[in-house]
Amino acid sequence: MDLLQLQGKNIVVMGVANERSIAWGIAQQLFEVGANVIFTYRKERSKGKIEKMLEKLDRQNVAIVECDVNSDESIATAFQQIGEQFQVIHGIVHSVAFAHAEDLKNRFVETTRDGYAFAQDTSAYSLIAVSKAAKPFMTEGGSIVTMSYLGAERVLDGYNVMGVAKAALEASMRYLAADLGAENIRVNAISAGAIRTLAAKGVPSFNQILHKIEETAPLKRNTNQAEVADMTMVMLSHLSRGVTGETIYIDCGYNIMG
Ligand code: NAD
Repeated sequence: MDLLQLQGKNIVVMGVANERSIAWGIAQQLFEVGANVIFTYRKERSKGKIEKMLEKLDRQNVAIVECDVNSDESIATAFQQIGEQFQVIHGIVHSVAFAHAEDLKNRFVETTRDGYAFAQDTSAYSLIAVSKAAKPFMTEGGSIVTMSYLGAERVLDGYNVMGVAKAALEASMRYLAADLGAENIRVNAISAGAIRTLAAKGVPSFNQILHKIEETAPLKRNTNQAEVADMTMVMLSHLSRGVTGETIYIDCGYNIMG
């Protein structure tokens, strides 16, 4: 029985930089269930990596489209291209975030106006911009899933301006869910535990964070790419058809601890 009902569905996966990317874990699961994955990338380097990774999986003819979420023009062009090629978009994985390194390293009080705006633009506003561009092609309803982190609601060492961006991302997710629900488009966030990826390299004291989670989380370990991918599959699928506007924690229970 096809519980997920993702076979043949067109799912846009944004944010694969390399094999460690959370989005890559999700893409691999989507391939397994027969979805059509459409990748977007910002840097040519990421495009090259995606091509090589697809080669390893022996997958040819997969769409890889440029999309810089800091540019309205780039987003519009990307989704126009995807819409023309696939007609309908059934799902989007928004797995994109960025902040300037100095805004993570410096004291929070030193956050610059530019650094704040840049983190918000890339990591929170981009969800709204992408939803707007994709909506004309989400004519059969669908599911949008974004990646958040506990720093949205708690002060976590070294997360600083990105924590504020994730708070805005989660609030934007809820407003989008309320707005797009009438079109049967669901919008949810996965709050993933700490995973060693390229983005995580920018967070100072990441090793200490991993150790603390191991000691404190109810499951006494850290989560991983595959576990986050599994729950993202659920949130993209028929199984979660009654869920929208939620933040789902995949963090071995760490968020419940005092
Ligand atoms: P990653 O570095 O592999 O992925 C981040 C992606 O964002 C990269 O592919 C990068 O190219 C893309 N990106 C940045 N700026 C962009 C722009 N202007 N336009 C288009 N793409 C852009 O790291 P990841 O850990 O897989 O991060 C994916 C998401 O998961 C992020 O939102 C991150 O905050 C979130 N997250 C990560 C962790 C973790 O511990 N790794 C935990 C919780 C949430």
